[in-house]
Formats: sequence, C-alpha cells, structure tokens
Amino acid sequence: MEINREGYILGIESTAHTFSIGLADSNGYPLDSVSVAVRPLKGGIHPREAADHHAEKAADVLQKLLKSNKLESKNFAGVAFSQGPGLGPCLRIGASVARTISQKWDVPLIGVNHCVAHIEVGRKTCGCDDPVLLYVSGGNTQIIAKMDGRYRVLGETLDIGIGNMLDKFAREQGIPFPGGPKIESLAKEWIENNPESKLADYSLPYAVQGMDLAFSGVLNAACNLIKRGAPLGAVCWSIQEHTFAACVEVAERALAHTSKNELLLGGGVACNSRLRNMSEVMALERNAKSFVPERKFCVDNGSMIAVLGKLHLKHDDITDISNSSVLQYLRTDQTPILWT
Ligand code: AMP
Ligand code: MG
Repeated sequence: MEINREGYILGIESTAHTFSIGLADSNGYPLDSVSVAVRPLKGGIHPREAADHHAEKAADVLQKLLKSNKLESKNFAGVAFSQGPGLGPCLRIGASVARTISQKWDVPLIGVNHCVAHIEVGRKTCGCDDPVLLYVSGGNTQIIAKMDGRYRVLGETLDIGIGNMLDKFAREQGIPFPGGPKIESLAKEWIENNPESKLADYSLPYAVQGMDLAFSGVLNAACNLIKRGAPLGAVCWSIQEHTFAACVEVAERALAHTSKNELLLGGGVACNSRLRNMSEVMALERNAKSFVPERKFCVDNGSMIAVLGKLHLKHDDITDISNSSVLQYLRTDQTPILWT
C-alpha cells in the first residue's frame, strides 16, 4: 500500500467503558472526539455488555464525527485503534471497526498502545518534551518515563487502578458510576466547611509500596470508616489526601531517579483539581514543571489514539491485518518508541 503521510488520522478508542472516535490533523494535533460511555445502573462494567454497547453505537459515532467536521474518506491518511491493553470484548469492537474502515477507505491500519497514547497527547498539547507521566485512570495507575527508546513503568498499582478504587467506594455509598467527580465535590465541600479536620481522625493505609502502589486496602478501610459512622464527606476527603499524596510521592521519586524536570498528568483521575494542585506544588518544590492536558484529553478519547497513530505512520510503522489482533495485556514498555 502506498503510504500517504498527509491528511487526517482517525483514532478509535474502545479499551473499556468509553467508545470514542477522534481526529488528529495533518500536523498530528488532536481535534475533538465524539464519545459515548456505558453507565451501568448497578454494579461495575460488564465487558460483554460494554462491547455490545460499543458495537451498537459505532456507526452513529463515526457519522457524527465526519459530519460535524465536514470530512469524508478522501481526507484521511490512516485509521488508528487501541490495540491494548484493555477489556478483550471491548477492544475487539474497536479493532473490527478500524479494520473495516481501513479496507473500505483503502488507508493504512495502525494498532497503538493505549497507555502510550495518554503520554503522546499530553506531550503534543502541553508542549512538554520528556516528562514523567503520572497516569491515573479507572483501570491503570502507572508512573512512566522514557529510557532507552521505550516508555518504562517505574511504578504501578499492585492491585486495582486508583479510579476503580474511587468508583467502587462510591458504588458502596450508592453514588453512581463514575464516582470520582462526586467524591471530589464531597471532599471539597467537607474541607471548606470543616477546615479544622485532621487526617489522623480518618486515617487510611499508606498506599506506597516501594515504587509501587496499592489501593484495595484503602478501599476496605474507607468502607469500614463509613460503617463506624464517619461522615461521607470526611472519608472522601481522606481518600483523596491519602491516595493522591501516594501517587505524587512515587512520581517525585521517579523525577529524582531519572533527573527529569517535567511531570505530566494523564487518565480520567487527572481531571481532579486537588490532584492537579498537589502535583503542581510538588513540581514547584523541586524546580520542575507540572503539565496537565485539557480534561477532554485526560479521559479516554479517540483523538489521542489518532495522535499516536500519526507518529507511527510518520515512521511507516503500520499494522498488517494479520497482526491486528487485540493485545489485552499489552504493556507500556512493549512498544518501541521510534520518534523523539
Ligand atoms: P479513564 O479510565 O481514563 O477513562 O477515566 C475514568 C476514571 O476517572 C473513573 O474511574 C472516574 O471515576 C475517574 N474520574 C473522572 N473525573 C474525576 C475526578 N474529577 N476526580 C477523580 N476521579 C475522576
Ligand atoms: Mg485510559
């Protein structure tokens, strides 16, 4: 296939609850995505049900995106999709949609690493160069930095993702998915109304384990605080203070270890103002700079997939259909980084 490096890239994201199609322009800059997400009324995300939802919505999402941007197939140079990591049934819908578009439009197919996409959309939109990424999302919590041509995971959660912990705690309290934003507002309200509060009164386990993190103990302990009569707002506040401090502590150690001086936030939990604020303070204290993408580029979105697709395409790194199976357990450091 003749590779055309000019034109838009279509990016398809379907690793978990969100199905999103977005765009990168011919300079590799992300534009707005069209996204839909499953919101289970009860319990967590069921991978098969989420996949059915994505399959049902895919055609509408694509039509809406093309129409609102006045684009058609001839404007595109490639179609990128999240090849992994993620929930198998959900990933397979995105991959199938991408293969179909690639064949029909006769454009290259580009399978990309979802975690790397969070980094590259941050670098592109925030203008940072060589950051330590604090990637905090529903399913993932990782501290990542580039070394020897790969993004290396310097620390990560040993059990559940921080967003998953927030969502599970919220669900136990009858707060619907996603719980993170509501926990943020309850925490803010609590500390504004109770400025004398002490964390020691709502103590939770220390989530740092060497360079790694662990959140399921925090989740249990927080639920127990509620059972013992602690106010919901106070526990939300304590969860945020304890777990965000843990993430920021590991990120700080990663900055020290790598001698880098840029911190980048990514993932849905990076929408949280308290986490943004803690990261900024830590960076300032060590003469580093903290960067946070716009919220629409923090949450899972198709445009970040397109941004990474563009980088692969620039290096003729396209995916043959025979290698386009989804990679549920793809690791951040399995993807060679060909660009600077
Ligand atoms: P992602 O997996 O990257 O799409 O992000 C989804 C996760 O981000 C969910 O676990 C949400 O609860 C969490 N989230 C979204 N907004 C916030 C917020 N303002 N504070 C904390 N967590 C949030
Ligand atoms: Mg994500």
